[in-house]
Amino acid sequence: MILVVLGKQGAGKGTQCVRLAESYRIPHVSTGDILRAAVKAGSDLGLEVKAIMDAGQLVNDDLIMRVVADRLSQSDAHNGALLDGCTRTLAQAESLEALLGEPGVSMVINLDIATELVTARLSARRVCQECGTIYTESDISAISGTCEKCGGDVVQRPDDTPDAIRTRLDAYERDTAPLLDFYSSRGLLVTINGDQDIESVTGDIDAAITKRGLR
Ligand code: AMP
Repeated sequence: MILVVLGKQGAGKGTQCVRLAESYRIPHVSTGDILRAAVKAGSDLGLEVKAIMDAGQLVNDDLIMRVVADRLSQSDAHNGALLDGCTRTLAQAESLEALLGEPGVSMVINLDIATELVTARLSARRVCQECGTIYTESDISAISGTCEKCGGDVVQRPDDTPDAIRTRLDAYERDTAPLLDFYSSRGLLVTINGDQDIESVTGDIDAAITKRGLR
């Protein structure tokens, strides 16, 4: 089962993917997480993408698709994966189709939420640098700066600043929103209301997966 999760930055893709990966036992493949780990490790890949990411711009399609192909070739992804943050452009969507072959993407979940709401969510978002757990600024771990799960540092992402947030949301509208039509025309798109509590969003996604006969 290959699930692609689409939605504006701050729509809750990461939070939902962690929950879904656990219940469906398929890996959560977040291109953003992979790139952030590369930046942290100071690898060649990290050095190449750091400035682009910090500015909130998109990394080039070929590079992203190499990262995805490599990740999906690992043994834990043989039964499927949850793709979070990829695809983000039409070129990536076409390249993913070519990479997967038949039967390809099983379903595309669009977490739908108003731009005003995500702007506030992103400004308040804090994240553990070690394990990636997402917090909001009022959570104890965010206030103390120490992750309650792993003890790692809880920080604001360098691209959760007002300028970078604006650039990323523009990139979403320009490059990613057209994917909704692309996947809808293939009968793969399911839109879920992302402006609900976390459990309700997961419940709606579970119901959509069941309705498609994917579990
Ligand atoms: P995310 O964690 O998904 O918000 O991604 C953080 C940053 O990583 C983005 O703003 C881009 O700079 C880069 N990135 C992640 N995934 C992609 C992708 N599929 N295509 C292009 N750039 C990406």
